[in-house]
Amino acid sequence: MRIDIITIFPQMFEGPFSHSIVKRAVDKKRVEIFLHDLRDHTTDKHRSVDDYAYGGGAGMVMMIEPVDRCISILKAKHNYDDVIYLSPDGNLLNQPMANRLSLSKNLILLCGHYKGIDERIRKQLITKEVSIGNYVLSGGELAAAVLTDCIVRLLPGVLSDETSALSDSFQNNLVSPPVYTRPRNYKGYEVPEILLSGNDKKIDEWRHEQAVKRTEERRPGMLKDQ
Ligand code: SAH
Repeated sequence: MRIDIITIFPQMFEGPFSHSIVKRAVDKKRVEIFLHDLRDHTTDKHRSVDDYAYGGGAGMVMMIEPVDRCISILKAKHNYDDVIYLSPDGNLLNQPMANRLSLSKNLILLCGHYKGIDERIRKQLITKEVSIGNYVLSGGELAAAVLTDCIVRLLPGVLSDETSALSDSFQNNLVSPPVYTRPRNYKGYEVPEILLSGNDKKIDEWRHEQAVKRTEERRPGMLKDQ
């Protein structure tokens, strides 16, 4: 998979992408991530990417021209499954959406800033809008990093145990059952006996029961969706 991220703060991705699973995916060549500084696609000497809003009001608006230039250059070289704008009012990111997006070959992610982006970008250039939650961030960078992380960990060969992603929360409309590790007894807090029994069938059943119980308690709506 190839992911092209358009941003005015490429440095913001250095942390999230140079550790853990995303780094491993890049090292194993399961994904190529390219950061594009939107200011490299401006034409004026101030490298402006934003301007005042027509009609007045607080907040600057990101201009269409640099975004269009950058996307056009990318599209001339690659075929993209989607051009995604990270937006608070976009489709809410969830596991089925991440699963679907992980099947893409090439994606463009556009990070907004300020008051947002010129509506004509959204109408003409964007094919999908994704929100990471009903709250407002200062920019699309953290949202793009979240989206990239949850897609990339699903790519074949990225997680060391292929089945691990399937037993995570939200796959099969269930949250994850509780997990434990050593020691067996910590200050009197015990690990459930069943997990020490060595009986794989019974352990699987217990985990399923626990997942259902937790889902009922924490995400009751999710069970109804099944
Ligand atoms: N005025 C806009 C918010 C702009 S926030 C509004 O009220 O909808 C600036 C940028 O941050 C946006 O352009 C978007 O790219 C990003 N952003 C903010 N919150 C986000 C969220 N919950 N999910 C995804 N992107 C978000």
